Amino acid sequence: MTGVSDIFVATCDLAGQVRGRGAPATAEPGVLASGTGWVPANLALTAFGDIAPDDVFGSTGDLRLLPDPSTRVDIPADGERPGLRLYLADQTLPDGTGWACCPRGALRSALADLREATGLRVVASFEHEFVLRGLPPSAPFSLRRHRDADPFGADLLRLLADCGLEPETWLPEYGEHQFEITLAPADALVAADRAVLARELVRDLALRRGLSASFAPLHHPDGTGSGVHVHLSLVDDQDAPALFDPSRPGRLSEIGCRFGAGVLRHAGALTAWTAPSPVSFLRLTPHRWSVGGVFLGEHNREALLRICPTPTVAGADPAGQYNLEYRASDATANPWLTLAALVRAGLAGITGDYPDPVVWPERASVAGVPALPASLDEALGALTEDAVVGSWFDERLIATQLAVKRHELAHLAGLTSAERIRRVADAY
Ligand code: GLU
Ligand code: MG
Repeated sequence: MTGVSDIFVATCDLAGQVRGRGAPATAEPGVLASGTGWVPANLALTAFGDIAPDDVFGSTGDLRLLPDPSTRVDIPADGERPGLRLYLADQTLPDGTGWACCPRGALRSALADLREATGLRVVASFEHEFVLRGLPPSAPFSLRRHRDADPFGADLLRLLADCGLEPETWLPEYGEHQFEITLAPADALVAADRAVLARELVRDLALRRGLSASFAPLHHPDGTGSGVHVHLSLVDDQDAPALFDPSRPGRLSEIGCRFGAGVLRHAGALTAWTAPSPVSFLRLTPHRWSVGGVFLGEHNREALLRICPTPTVAGADPAGQYNLEYRASDATANPWLTLAALVRAGLAGITGDYPDPVVWPERASVAGVPALPASLDEALGALTEDAVVGSWFDERLIATQLAVKRHELAHLAGLTSAERIRRVADAY
């Protein structure tokens, strides 16, 4: 293992934080075989570092963090900093069987259920916006900003490529000090693993380059938000695209339309998983190009579920590019649970008896479409009231989500929006 002196085995929790345990490199074979110790109550840690008082697990119980070898990334030694080999882990019981509250396991089982019911696989990609603090002011989308971020930018692309994360684009974004990194689409579990890893690799490299990266949904009440847009497509067992049907509205296939119906129907409760911080809903308002309402729309950047364009330059085939983009998520959410909840919602739409959603044409006025919850409190209320969403995950996982998020709200009670935004930004 060149330049790597120790390993770290990690999970991502309900606060979207990556936590775990380290071991010397010499212990790697044993850790790969039997994992490292972990504790159920760790799932009840909030973004502010304490365990939620309503934690259902308490002081008992033991788990293993069992590394998945396919997630291995080597962060190279750099200056004074030693290299590190990082693994993402499944949380298991001490005998190695899956723990029912493991977020990564929840995604696996959602994907398996979708496959069993429909024969379809999910291909996904997470698109991340973030703010790089420590650079001079610069214009949106400018070459200046792109250059100001070097050598960080060039080093980031190399690091992500070396780690197998397949970076696709790296761009100066619209907001102050804002950038965006996109990764190639991949099988859903791999895509969610990449999202967990990408945030950590960005933050780690920024620190080593004297900068600080923040994935917080907002930095100022009136500022531009940073979203995590989740691109989804479905493919059959021959890898043929299943969302594209040029004969239908929006060219969205019947199964794609039903998948979308489930996402729209459960949108309120979904956001309790996908945008779960006390400030996430300040971003999810009209005129921010985040989400202006609960609708499925062609190309509209304020749709909850956006049908993405399929450029045909140089004869590119639209069917393989065609995908739906879920825009109501941010980096305070757990990527495995974000995708698990979306897949469960889509599956509920496919197997349930929901009305087909309107596919809003690109330039239609969408006035009057339903609104998303206006606050985390409302989203948690929607989660407790939506029995379908309540059936998707182990009840202790749902109880822990509610406990963690309610405690995060309590932490920030009485603060102004600007103060709450600052507190959340410090954690992300
Ligand atoms: N920054 C916007 C958001 O909060 C997204 C802008 C874009 O379409 O890239 O989601
Ligand atoms: Mg963007």
